[in-house]
Amino acid sequence: MKAAAYTGNKTLQLAPSEQISPADNEVRLEVAYCGICGTDMHIYHGNMDQRVRMPQIIGHEVSAVVAEVGAGVADVQVGDRVCVRPLKFGEAANFDRGNAHVGKNLRIIGIDMPGGMQSSWTVPAYTLHKIPDELNLETAALIEPLAVAVHDVKLSRLKGNETCVVIGGGPIGLLIAMVARNLGARVILSEINESRLTLARELGLEAVNPLEENLADSVAELTEGAMADCVFEVSGSAVGVQVMTDLVCARGRIVVVAIHPDAKPVNLFKFFWSEIQMIGARLYEAEDFDDAIQLAASGQLALKKLITKVSTLENVAEVFETIDSQPDGIKYLIKCNET
Ligand SMILES: [Zn+2]
Repeated sequence: MKAAAYTGNKTLQLAPSEQISPADNEVRLEVAYCGICGTDMHIYHGNMDQRVRMPQIIGHEVSAVVAEVGAGVADVQVGDRVCVRPLKFGEAANFDRGNAHVGKNLRIIGIDMPGGMQSSWTVPAYTLHKIPDELNLETAALIEPLAVAVHDVKLSRLKGNETCVVIGGGPIGLLIAMVARNLGARVILSEINESRLTLARELGLEAVNPLEENLADSVAELTEGAMADCVFEVSGSAVGVQVMTDLVCARGRIVVVAIHPDAKPVNLFKFFWSEIQMIGARLYEAEDFDDAIQLAASGQLALKKLITKVSTLENVAEVFETIDSQPDGIKYLIKCNET
């Protein structure tokens, strides 16, 4: 029983994974696969050292098999295949207005408390979503980021006859693009990494490299001046924020998906002039997970193409070094158990 623990300063150490018996309304899982997320890379780089208590077992993109259930758990049984919505809801605050997933007292499992990059993991039963037989455990590790994409597209109010631009072609950007396309929308993806651009084109997306072509001009040309109904800012870059207001049509929507830790200049004149709307989108709600599972199980999305490599817990330090040193990959999974 092993675990990957972040101990600070770009270091992940192999640690024992404790088998913690589930308390009331908890479930113990045997983790199958745990995906590595951009947030895990932020932790690795020390950007979240004030928040993460070290050593901390990280990881929040998990598929698993139920190993033990605590008293009061009715919805899952031993042997069920599940994925985990890694949110620990605190006490509801007036501020929340019922939006627990962005509530004041929300904690993220895998950041603020031990995560799923380990063989045995005990979590609250309400975090679990069962996965159907058609979905294998490897693909099911992508449900968490897919739920992010489903949530983002839902909040964008994108329709099948509309055009959207996705700025940034990492895992979340590609998933948003795939969900939007599946809806019937036209998708133009902006990305600077050539191998990610190649993958995007393999997935049937229109893709532009903004270092080679002016993005606003390209969108104008592709849409015959109509521009996009909706833009997703997923790059987290200052240039992404700068250009996003140039890409939307009158009354278009801009969805800010990326984490921008520092304030950046935004062209508010454009917002006023064209009555643009800006929408923030973070995490997901329970129904986004259900929708993501259904979508993945339908086989309509080429999710497998996003999995760059599957490694074992023993090699976790090496995998993080690879992700850090070479930006071509999309999604790396850690296999956390033999079965
Ligand atoms: Zn994540």
